[in-house]
Amino acid sequence: AKSNGRNALQQFTPELGRRADERLALSRRMRAALSNGEFRLDYQPQVDLQSNRVTGVEALLRWTDSELGPVSPATFIPIAEENGLIVPIGEWVMQQACFQAQVWQASLPGLRMSVNLSPRQFARGDFLRVVQRALARARLSPRLLELEITEGALMSVGALDVLRALRAMDIDIAIDDFGTGYSSLSYIRNFHAERLKLDMSFVSGIGRHREDEVITRAILSLGRALGFQVVAEGVETDTQLSFLRRHGCRVVQGYRFARPMPAADAHAFISQFNEGALA
Ligand code: C2E
Ligand code: CA
Ligand code: CA
Ligand code: CA
Repeated sequence: AKSNGRNALQQFTPELGRRADERLALSRRMRAALSNGEFRLDYQPQVDLQSNRVTGVEALLRWTDSELGPVSPATFIPIAEENGLIVPIGEWVMQQACFQAQVWQASLPGLRMSVNLSPRQFARGDFLRVVQRALARARLSPRLLELEITEGALMSVGALDVLRALRAMDIDIAIDDFGTGYSSLSYIRNFHAERLKLDMSFVSGIGRHREDEVITRAILSLGRALGFQVVAEGVETDTQLSFLRRHGCRVVQGYRFARPMPAADAHAFISQFNEGALA
């Protein structure tokens, strides 16, 4: 018989969320999670290597279910995309991140907030209005908001028009997981993006696999030549950091500097880090 006790569910890893009955159970629990206040955001600092300052943060969604405990985004986000809950959840994320960004402007002026978007949010007719409303409610300048979108989301009909509209609103675009998608390189000209986020899978190979180093260097030089800022994600080691620095990477994000943290911890970290940079 299937065990359904607490213990069986304690570690909800991506492996577990794969089975159909488990996905269904998670899907059901997720429906109440928003109104029960079970979601929160963590914030991971992004360090500008030129100024040696934290210039932005990425908002990362966290879900702690009352019985299951913390559920990994790698598990629940694909399910939320499938059942459509990513739309209301994504709206909550956008609003929450904008509020937080505005609160931080008083002590950390200019700090930029990056928010992940699901393709499903992006494809909706009311998407631009949702973004505008979140900014207006938070009284946040659109210049301080960046939206992270994967290449896949940009391949759909109408996506480029939405990008153009976002740019016209002064909102920045970052192409997430860059290098892992399907787009042809010539296509990135049309993306209207400011930044490319070099996927962690390449970064983690630095110092270990020559191919990953070659691809990393190629993306950095492509970014430079075409005017994109490249953000390296998943930077964990000094070896990776010095390689990226040496090859002209401008911004890094990863455990080497900081993990994603609750707002208060992130604020303390950034204040301290940037004070040190000025000293
Ligand atoms: P992502 O957008 O590529 O986010 C980066 C992931 O790498 C995060 O995982 C982050 O915690 C992790 N990470 C950061 N630095 C390091 C490092 O140095 N080493 C390692 N091993 N990992 C690092 P997380 O928070 O589990 O999120 C996983 C994915 O879930 C995200 O990947 C993103 O695709 C999705 N996600 C998270 N929050 C949201 C959200 O609010 N909306 C949507 N649509 N997707 C989200
Ligand atoms: Ca991201
Ligand atoms: Ca990524
Ligand atoms: Ca991703």
